Amino acid sequence: MAYEISEYYKKHKGEAQWQDGEYTCTRTTMWSGPGCHNGCGVVYYTKNGKVEKIEGDPYNPFNLGKLCMRCINYVEAADSNDRLKWPLKRVGERGENKWERISWDEAYDIIVEKVNGIKKDYGPESIVCMEGTGRNVIWQVPYLCYAAFGSPNFTLGFLSGESCSMPRLVTEAVTEGEFTFGDYSAHFPDRYENPNWKLPEVILLWGQNAIISNPDSSLGHWIVECMKRGSKLIVVDPMLTWLAAKADIWLRVRPGTDAALAMAMNDVIIKEDLYDHAFVEKWCHGFDDFAERVATMPPERAAEICWIPKDTIVEAARLYGKAERGAGTWGVSVDMAQCGISAAQAINALWAICGNLDKPGGQSIIRYAFDQGLAYDYGIEILPPEVTAKRIGMDLPLKQFGFGATAHSDTLLKVIEAGGVPYPIKMFWFQSTNPIANMGAEAPRLYKAIKTADFNVVVDMFMTPTAVAFADLVLPCAMSSERWSQRNWWMPTASIRKVASYYEAKSDEQLILELGKRFSPELFPWKDDKEWIDWIISDQTSKMGMTFDELCDVVCQYEDFEYYKYEKGMLRPDGKPGFNTPTGKVELKLSLFEAWGLDPLPWYQEPPESPYSTPELHKKYPLVLTTGHRSWEFFHSEHRQLKLNREFHPDPMIKMNPETAAKFGVKEGDWVWVENYRGRFKQKVKYEMLHPGVVNAEHGWWFPEKEAAEPSLYGVFDSNCNNLTTMCQNGPTGYGAPYKNQLCTVYKVTEENSKIMPTEQVTRLGGFNYVQK
Ligand code: SF4
Repeated sequence: MAYEISEYYKKHKGEAQWQDGEYTCTRTTMWSGPGCHNGCGVVYYTKNGKVEKIEGDPYNPFNLGKLCMRCINYVEAADSNDRLKWPLKRVGERGENKWERISWDEAYDIIVEKVNGIKKDYGPESIVCMEGTGRNVIWQVPYLCYAAFGSPNFTLGFLSGESCSMPRLVTEAVTEGEFTFGDYSAHFPDRYENPNWKLPEVILLWGQNAIISNPDSSLGHWIVECMKRGSKLIVVDPMLTWLAAKADIWLRVRPGTDAALAMAMNDVIIKEDLYDHAFVEKWCHGFDDFAERVATMPPERAAEICWIPKDTIVEAARLYGKAERGAGTWGVSVDMAQCGISAAQAINALWAICGNLDKPGGQSIIRYAFDQGLAYDYGIEILPPEVTAKRIGMDLPLKQFGFGATAHSDTLLKVIEAGGVPYPIKMFWFQSTNPIANMGAEAPRLYKAIKTADFNVVVDMFMTPTAVAFADLVLPCAMSSERWSQRNWWMPTASIRKVASYYEAKSDEQLILELGKRFSPELFPWKDDKEWIDWIISDQTSKMGMTFDELCDVVCQYEDFEYYKYEKGMLRPDGKPGFNTPTGKVELKLSLFEAWGLDPLPWYQEPPESPYSTPELHKKYPLVLTTGHRSWEFFHSEHRQLKLNREFHPDPMIKMNPETAAKFGVKEGDWVWVENYRGRFKQKVKYEMLHPGVVNAEHGWWFPEKEAAEPSLYGVFDSNCNNLTTMCQNGPTGYGAPYKNQLCTVYKVTEENSKIMPTEQVTRLGGFNYVQK
């Protein structure tokens, strides 16, 4: 390994638990909450049932001993006196923040009575279950929804166009039948030393600030390690991030135009004959049609659209196209555009035509380790087909054919706003999601819609704006160190060991199991949460050949990984060589899309509101607003309660070029209103190197230090960038949404223009029909 392991940890190599004076030390895995998409190895130091210290586990191959700030400060989160301690029942009006403590049994009794009443009067489909992103509830909440409530309407927290991963995942599924990740050696426990792995010659980092976001199975330090070993770097990002500053080529793309850029890079690679002829001829379908389509987007045209010099596009295409091995990693900015699917298709084609698929140091085809397919459709087969057919959004083309196992958020909103057509929505179950503070676009519109439901339950670690505004019951859930669980996202499979507890908080599995038993005991036969996990590992995943206790002892387990699976008959159900697609090849022209009446080739369309699609609007709102930039300190709307995290990052910040700031009469440190015709929010100016026509606002902001009761509601709309984004502007597949490409203007906050704050505007005055200037 390329780092030193201390003598202390060398002494405890191979031990899962040991005693160090009065501390019990436990080697295990961290997975939310509080959240993150990854499962880094940690060592907990516990005393009297409390975690008092945490360190990165130097022997865990996944994170190699490194932790980021959110985990380093885990103890403050776990020990916070602000956490929810026991179940609460609302006693005042919604929004008043008046609660009474009740027992878990009372809470379960209320839920059973309400759910059974709604099912009897309106049908189970009137119940919607939602969860957040990356949290360790990906299969647990769906199972509750299907097996206990009998509803097909499991979904994400009003995530417009399901535009986090889904457009990319769906595109990969129809293109090569599998998912891929840039190969930074993560498939192997011996990592960079593994003899089969090769260093990527170039890394294409598209719309992702990996060292801050540490996204799914692409920890930022893996990329930095590859850079240290000699990988070249191309970064596509509107902002000069640390990685962009270190890159060989920075493509400062206009937000929302990624499809045009990727098409143009393909065009250069094809015209300059830099693609892998052998791979394309043998393994790709539709190359000629694809080449003809991308030729409609030559680099000079893309340069105008993307605001990137033509020569820089050409140079980047050459660097990637000429490399022997190219690894790519992409972020949600690909998804967060109306043509997100198309952008994903064109980027995906880059690594296919350059022959990078499933080669060492290229783009690895990955599956859940040991084929543990635990995801959003866990338990869906329990529902009768006629109930599944009622899932909201099933008329969308991809949903009809089984892609994307969630109800469609935008259609759900339309159903509610239509007064319950085709059926009413009577109950929301929010588990670890805070949609009005975070993932839901057009947050003020959602506020009105959610208020119409008869009965709502929130399960979370802290009281949130969503809980105060809508909940009838609030249930406390455990943090990562307080639950038995496992992580099965790709490699490796990892155990999560319970070493602590907090008042009456229960793990997500535990509370779902206890509640599920009251509805359908035969579908929840396990004695407790640990037995449920053990059943999944031992019975369902016999390939792994170990029990949960054994997995806890080894902490994590790797499956043998092989490259070039398509040559070895490892991808298709019939065992023949090739890809799991209708043609058996990588489909540059999507035969499934063709069959469904969708454009089978990549295309570009201007964002619905942009300098070119709505020039009149652009005169009034002359800046392109991108949102959702990640920070070191927070995971989406989480961590705002923590003193240390807030000390590093006290205020929401809008990043802008100093030139832009000067033009709008503001300077670094000033509070500004950011406004468009949907509403406004305020953040503090921070200088960054962006195109002068682009500003970049943070998301997920609310203020736990402010009054909880409405109209304050923790100030959830005051700095909320989703006052300006929009629901229901998706691409033709229903996927993709313009979170990162809106228009806005900015002006300085003054006492005079701040008499009515956005939260009061939304909660007391009915929304943003009027904006005070
Ligand atoms: S990536 Fe960071 S927040 Fe996520 S588990 Fe690892 S250390 Fe924790």
